[in-house]
Amino acid sequence: MAAPSHRPTHRRSLRKRRTLVVTAAVAAAGVGAGVLVLNANANAGAVDLYHQSLPAKDGWAASGSGTTGGAKADSAHTFTVSTRAQLVKALGSVSDTTPRIIKVKGTIDANTSDAGKKLTCADYASGTGYSLSAYLRAYDPATYGKKAPSGTQENARKAAADKQKKNIVFRVPANTTIVGVPGTNAGIRGGSLHVQNVKNVIVRNLTFADTQDCFPQWDPTDGSSGEWNSNYDSVTLRGVTNVWADHNTFTDAPTFDSSEKSYFGRKYQVHDGALDITNGSDLVTVERNLFSNHDKTMLIGSSDTDSTGKLRVTIHHNVWKGIVQRAPLARIGQIHLYNNVYDTTALNGYTPKYSIDSRAKAQVVAEHNAWKLPSGAKPAKLLSGDGTGSIAGGGNLVNGTATDLVAAYNAASSKKIKTTVNWKPALTAGLQTSAKNLVTELATTTGAGALY
Ligand code: CA
Ligand code: CA
Repeated sequence: MAAPSHRPTHRRSLRKRRTLVVTAAVAAAGVGAGVLVLNANANAGAVDLYHQSLPAKDGWAASGSGTTGGAKADSAHTFTVSTRAQLVKALGSVSDTTPRIIKVKGTIDANTSDAGKKLTCADYASGTGYSLSAYLRAYDPATYGKKAPSGTQENARKAAADKQKKNIVFRVPANTTIVGVPGTNAGIRGGSLHVQNVKNVIVRNLTFADTQDCFPQWDPTDGSSGEWNSNYDSVTLRGVTNVWADHNTFTDAPTFDSSEKSYFGRKYQVHDGALDITNGSDLVTVERNLFSNHDKTMLIGSSDTDSTGKLRVTIHHNVWKGIVQRAPLARIGQIHLYNNVYDTTALNGYTPKYSIDSRAKAQVVAEHNAWKLPSGAKPAKLLSGDGTGSIAGGGNLVNGTATDLVAAYNAASSKKIKTTVNWKPALTAGLQTSAKNLVTELATTTGAGALY
């Protein structure tokens, strides 16, 4: 089907979904009449973008108490924001769990002052004594050795980094929906949404672009040659329960990694994760997002001992395009990947290494996903692991051909991926048992801007 005729189809399918949501809400509330009256008053039966809850059975986030975000917000807790200062005010205190809806209109630049003035890395460094050239002189392994940076320039780096952090990190309280207003290029540039130790959050229809750390830290002990490490994922989920990330776009654009120099022989990396799910986070659904132009895209579990019995994540109908790695990197949890599209063609200098990494006994089910590989690329390179992780599931297509990815990977690797898992996915709303039309379908139905 051609792209132009696809949008109306999608609009119809959204309407159908909204009807299902209302039906589910009625069933869950066990009332009926009252809910139906409300529904009849609301725009011919449609639940709007802002008030929508996660549909029933739509992945792990539908488990437990479900995910409603700020659906119950009153008018005093429904905000429309267009600047950083307005966003900060609307988010309020992380200890205030009153349901709230935050509508983002247009692009908010996180690197701006309360008065709306653009802030540069030099502005944050100002007054701290930090400069990159002084930092490089201080910690050159040739003269300083391979020990962790400490002293004047490292202290100055931390002070400058703290100033940027105060500006670009947005703490999200429980029972919140943050949603882009359709038709406004809604999103956050250069910012980091921290959803930490809270429950019930929805993030949708937003473009997260160009999140970068002005002050990467040199770690000479990371790997054999050291690495430059950065903070700030575009969205970071830590210790959360019931989160729905829906129809967002994640991209480094316009600051691609290829534009960065190398120092001490290693790439100066200003980006961290796109959407990281760590520190015992649980019951998360990641749906119809577009991930592009990024290296380390999605971490599930920050270490092999992150948590036990948690990190249950459903990832479906997303597009991964121009992603180097971690789509996702999965540890420990029960993780369901279905109906995703992976385009492994190099893009803007981002050359894919692998798609899915299963390690630390992760119990991954990956089924009915579609890979688009450039000619000459090998299916054996689509997976990664440490020899303890599992990936079960079938129906995966590579350039339209049914392919056993694990068999291809295992034939070429000494650290074999296991093929059995300790669970069976049951929360599988919208699961399509054929991946053959996904590349076309998802091209117009994922990412920010597809909802309207
Ligand atoms: Ca990092
Ligand atoms: Ca991270």
